[in-house]
Amino acid sequence: MATAEGPSDPISEFRSWELEKLASSTRAANEGLFEGILEAAPDAIVIVDSRGRIRIVNPQAEQLFGYSRDELIGKSVELLVPDSAREFHAEHRARFVQDPQMRPMGVGLDLKARRKDGSEIPVEISLSPLRTAQGPLVISVVRDVTDRREWEDMLAQRTAELEQSNDELQQFAYVASHDLQEPLRMVVSFLQLLKRRYAGKLDQEADEYIQFAVEGGTRMQLLIEDLLRYSRVGSRELFLSEVDFNEIVDQVLAELGPTIEETGATVSRAVLPVVVADPVEMARLFQNLLANAIKYYGEEAPRVRVDADRLAGAWAFSVRDNGIGIPPDQFDRIFRVFQRLHSQAEYPGTGIGLAICKRIVERHGGRIWVDSIPGKGSTFRFTLPTGED
Ligand code: ADP
Repeated sequence: MATAEGPSDPISEFRSWELEKLASSTRAANEGLFEGILEAAPDAIVIVDSRGRIRIVNPQAEQLFGYSRDELIGKSVELLVPDSAREFHAEHRARFVQDPQMRPMGVGLDLKARRKDGSEIPVEISLSPLRTAQGPLVISVVRDVTDRREWEDMLAQRTAELEQSNDELQQFAYVASHDLQEPLRMVVSFLQLLKRRYAGKLDQEADEYIQFAVEGGTRMQLLIEDLLRYSRVGSRELFLSEVDFNEIVDQVLAELGPTIEETGATVSRAVLPVVVADPVEMARLFQNLLANAIKYYGEEAPRVRVDADRLAGAWAFSVRDNGIGIPPDQFDRIFRVFQRLHSQAEYPGTGIGLAICKRIVERHGGRIWVDSIPGKGSTFRFTLPTGED
């Protein structure tokens, strides 16, 4: 009986011919696909053999390096490497051939490529090994990052300039407020002297003028002292330790004792956490928030509550009151230096307290904000990162 196997069998010959045809059309289709992918890739692609000879390039590589395909094929890939990096590149390439592992782009290397005209451009390169019937190849995808580097450089320069002008401003605020104090003290004390000596001796208008001048001078002294306090918060070094917020709040409440008594305020607090922070700054923060919560009360006696909630990676503290509240369009403004919503006669103050709070919280890596319903009360919240998730 004839078998259906063996090369001489016509059916099986036909089959293997069919298979071969299929394989070669698959190969052709694959090659077409491969070329299509190479051409469509957004980056330059240079495929190199184990000896470092360029075997395949795509049109983007021709454009990036300024060489035609024919000028590149068969040449050493070091042609595309700046002179200063050639030796290192050859060693690096040899190591890669021995232990080929995919190396993604942007792994922190400051790489440069050399163009035909000798110019050098910053690039990012990813390498992947490819096993083929003709031996191992290395696919390098090269991305021109000139634009991004320029942006990064510009950003770094802008940041440095901003930091410098910030430092200068801080320095200026400190020096100005410090140096203004002395002459102002003199003006105010002489005005007070004038008032004491000449009150009732000149006419009524003169008495009034002197009174206005004393008030203006005294207010200016307060503002300058506060500006100085504000600039000190920014320049003072932070001394971090484990802070028990129960102790901090109790200590601040003890200091506010006379005001609490005077206004008939009730203040309560939850059990508060221990968080790493600067205890002096935290006391200053709570002093400002609690003093405001008591000061800005409406018809009812102040009721104030301090709470803390655990969030992912942070503690969120809140100081809630039942006071006059704040219009929503003023939520941001009140955290700026000298911004107030009331006259001195209504509620005394200089408008620096919340700016200091903001600075303290931000120096600790947190955020501060307010929620409020005018006429019902306000809740000031701030976060302190815990350094863990
Ligand atoms: P100051 O109290 O000296 O004016 P702050 O910077 O502490 O300065 O506050 C800025 C402004 O924010 C205040 O003038 C007030 O209008 C508003 N404010 C602050 N805290 C409260 C509060 N708890 N309730 C209502 N308004 C507040």
